[in-house]
Amino acid sequence: AFKRLKLEGNSKDELFQMGQTFNHMIDLLEVNFDKQKQFVSNASHELKTPLTIIESYASLLKRRGLNEPKLFSESIEAIHSEAIRMKEMTEQLLMLARHHEQWNIEYNQLNISNLINQTVKAFKNAYHREIDFVEVNDTPLFIETDEKKLKQLLFIFLDNARKYSDETISVELGKDNDEVYIKIIDTGIGIHECDLPKVFDRFYRVDKARSRKQGGSGLGLALAKEIADAIGVRINLDSVLGAGTTVTILNKNIEK
Ligand code: ADP
Repeated sequence: AFKRLKLEGNSKDELFQMGQTFNHMIDLLEVNFDKQKQFVSNASHELKTPLTIIESYASLLKRRGLNEPKLFSESIEAIHSEAIRMKEMTEQLLMLARHHEQWNIEYNQLNISNLINQTVKAFKNAYHREIDFVEVNDTPLFIETDEKKLKQLLFIFLDNARKYSDETISVELGKDNDEVYIKIIDTGIGIHECDLPKVFDRFYRVDKARSRKQGGSGLGLALAKEIADAIGVRINLDSVLGAGTTVTILNKNIEK
């Protein structure tokens, strides 16, 4: 747009128009710059919290750890879980900082039932949580998308279902007209309708204390939205406070 600003041989009106365009561009740059500053400031704040916890437990260990076995195991436990949280957050931040055009997306035709089975198995092993996988269709369903990123997307939603509910999580796979749907259903705390439009914002959490206790960063759903855009799937989030949440992933069914 800057290249289009030729200043010679223009009428007063044209120069005025150019001035307006220029001002508009400066406004956009300022908004973007403010957003970047806000992002860096939030990220630093979020990383500082686990670091402060690690630091205080490490200094406790240094002073009294060798003589007090209970304090020793408690400190090691806290340092370990905070370090894991920092690692996950850093990975999410790195993905969000890079535009998804630079993510190396690879489209393939995928047997979705196999993919869900693998993800559910990995999730069960990691968190020892019951997951009920129901397939509505008799025949295998296929969609065309990026395998790794779709698994990552499923993992984010399963992880939220685990963090915000205590009951069995359900996953349902089916076909509606020419679309394949995957539903991740929990019967947990749910989300108030006022919060629903904000949960996909970076760093937004309904209950900061609970999210932090469960190892959350407030970045999961922001990343999920970015991944969904990058791999061409749609996501819907329906939730009722106190009753639970259903996330639906949708994509075109490929006939094989
Ligand atoms: P976090 O790391 O805090 O879980 P997310 O971006 O994944 O961050 O989610 C944003 C917020 O949305 C969460 O802090 C939580 O308050 C709410 N949320 C997300 N998924 C669920 C769910 N399945 N049930 C209830 N609340 C949820």
